[in-house]
Amino acid sequence: MISEKAAKLPPFYVMEVLERAKELESMGKDIIHLEIGEPDFPTAPHICEAASFALTKGETKYTHSQGLLELREAIARHYYVKFKLDPDPARILVTSGTSPALLLVFMSLIEHGDEVIMSDPYYACYPNFVRYLGGHPVFVRTKEENGFSMGFDTIARAITSRTKAILINSPCNPTGHVMSPENLRGISEIAGNIPVISDEIYQGLIYQGKDHSILEYTSNAFVLNGFSKLYAMTGWRLGYLIAPKEYIRTLRKIQQNFFICANSFVQHSGIAALTGPQDQVREMVATYDTRRKFIIKRLRDIGFGIKYEPCGAYYVLANAKKFSPDSLDLSRRILEEAGVAVTPGIDFGDGAKGYLRFSYANSIENIKEGMDRIEKYLHT
Ligand code: PMP
Repeated sequence: MISEKAAKLPPFYVMEVLERAKELESMGKDIIHLEIGEPDFPTAPHICEAASFALTKGETKYTHSQGLLELREAIARHYYVKFKLDPDPARILVTSGTSPALLLVFMSLIEHGDEVIMSDPYYACYPNFVRYLGGHPVFVRTKEENGFSMGFDTIARAITSRTKAILINSPCNPTGHVMSPENLRGISEIAGNIPVISDEIYQGLIYQGKDHSILEYTSNAFVLNGFSKLYAMTGWRLGYLIAPKEYIRTLRKIQQNFFICANSFVQHSGIAALTGPQDQVREMVATYDTRRKFIIKRLRDIGFGIKYEPCGAYYVLANAKKFSPDSLDLSRRILEEAGVAVTPGIDFGDGAKGYLRFSYANSIENIKEGMDRIEKYLHT
């Protein structure tokens, strides 16, 4: 018998859209993919070579549960070069992707009935992690009028004696919003003794202003990051977390029991990603920016509402209420009838109802074709 908890877990709609799109493709239909949050670039050759080399050297055994020291040192150095922060490698734990890092952090914090404050719209999986562990997500609604920024007053009002963490995600999936230094400082101050969990997986994918980490503003924070996005390494499954020292022993025990360690040869590729040449990263960022400007203009011309230009990650959350109040139905019709896969807002909470998320992790030619098809479909 399937457990009630597992049976109740909602689907990740973007994956369902992707699966249906693949089904249509196998039936011979041509589909443009603007749904999936996955870089369309290949992983850089020097990163692949590092993995091959590690394999030939026999790096195929378990590593320390916290990850290879050399990788943790490279991560610490990365935070130093970018933010002049100097996290002790002993506070870093390497995981098989950022998703397991999220699970570890929530497992170390949440008791039955505890609350985690997060924005709505949110990354689809966040509330599911919290609920699965018996906790309650508490949503702070963000609005397009404010560029999907979390208001301090609303966060302060949401805090109760059961609040275990405030979860933030900048640059944000699905809105593309990037938090300002004032935002980050303000949230750290409001949080006080409550830890901030900062999902920084889109760090580096920012097209205006400067990148920031929560650790510049508070040490009472868990940072989650990984290689999936910036280094185009989604399938490698490599991520990490930086935690307050007093949590490390616990996190390590959870990792030992449930995951043992991250893949060893993949950890070697992570070292190469962080310490090797960064020109491919710079090129990818410049390319995303060109696509971002292009897709925002086309979406606005078609009639989608975008009040503030998103300037991080590779997403646009566009208001589609003019075309339909039901984003799930609209995304289904756009997929089936126009041949373009986009993500319905409902994946990201009530705050994204009536919105569609467009990912520009696809070539400019494909984005253009996708926009042409959607324009034709909605206007004829
Ligand atoms: N956080 C956010 C905000 C994401 O968008 C994703 C991937 N879509 C993840 C975490 C998980 O990333 P991964 O497990 O591939 O590192």
